Amino acid sequence: MDMQKTCAGCKEFKLINQFGLDKNRSDGRAPYCKDCRHIISHKLYEKHKEKILRSQKLKKLNKPASVTFRDIYIEKARDAIRKNPSLCNSTIAKIAGATYNFICRERKKMKRRCTINTKN
Ligand SMILES: [Zn+2]
Repeated sequence: MDMQKTCAGCKEFKLINQFGLDKNRSDGRAPYCKDCRHIISHKLYEKHKEKILRSQKLKKLNKPASVTFRDIYIEKARDAIRKNPSLCNSTIAKIAGATYNFICRERKKMKRRCTINTKN
């Protein structure tokens, strides 16, 4: 006997195997059929495209999802400054792939930190 359930999306009565698995549900199946799920995930993709692309980009760079692009920019900027401390902010911005204003702001912070360190 094949179980059936109504899809929360298209409201069609479908075979249970048309629904994805969902451990959190009492019947162990997703509320939406696979067809609806596909449409929904596509819509979600469109909605969160930037976020998804961002995490894919991080994966490519071998960085965990917890790392922000800010961290990457700073890391690259610090690297560039270490190699050549006389670089101007606009060059560093180009190297790090960040904006000029971002580098200016971060550099000010870095300088502040450096002066604190030298005092100690
Ligand atoms: Zn459906």
